Amino acid sequence: MNVVSAVRKAKEEAVKIAHTIFKEGLVFETWGNVSSRPTEKQVVITPSGIHYEKLQYKDMIVVNMSGEVDEGKWKPSSELPLHLSIYQARKDVKAIIHTHSILATAFAVCRQEIPVVVEDLAQVVGGPVKVAEYAHPGSDELALNAVKVLGTENNAVLLANHGLVVLGDDFPTALQRCRVIERNAQIIIWSKILGSPYTLGPKEVKELRKKYLYEYGQKLLKRGSHSC
Ligand code: 13P
Ligand code: ZN
Repeated sequence: MNVVSAVRKAKEEAVKIAHTIFKEGLVFETWGNVSSRPTEKQVVITPSGIHYEKLQYKDMIVVNMSGEVDEGKWKPSSELPLHLSIYQARKDVKAIIHTHSILATAFAVCRQEIPVVVEDLAQVVGGPVKVAEYAHPGSDELALNAVKVLGTENNAVLLANHGLVVLGDDFPTALQRCRVIERNAQIIIWSKILGSPYTLGPKEVKELRKKYLYEYGQKLLKRGSHSC
């Protein structure tokens, strides 16, 4: 696919995913944002402060890796430094979804990580969702704090008193992670009403993730393929 088609496809996908996360209540009004990196040199990101219901293909912004606008009439998301810093730090990441989903944010407000209590979080996210230190929304400090916690392996991070940031090699992967994290946050809160939830240990979590990557679903039917 050439660069023009790749960017066009990324804009279409960004609008679609923005509408999906809005319909599912993972974001609301104008809060939260999404981006993807269709080419080495460009990022497609949602504009700042435009209601999800109004967002259209033509509203998407294309920026270069220094944050300068290449295409689009609006100001890019105020969390552009966060998105760009993650892409710079993590070559494996091609899509980012920042949500303000209620239950994950409840953990972020308490500055508590979301532990792994159910297999799906281990399988899809690969570990607990840790909390980055508080910093002002849209600041370079917020970006730094998030990148620090994400390291080279983590696929999601809670922003203290703010929300959730989820990474993926594409939007469907990042969206599935957002859903699984929100569901796990809900399960933990409810299970605390019943008693004390048991957390799965790191060894078990690693095994669950490995099994998911290499054995779960229909992969075995495709001989020699280990993609997920
Ligand atoms: P934008 O509307 O600028 O993307 O900001 C929303 C948000 O969630 C800030 O953290
Ligand atoms: Zn936010």
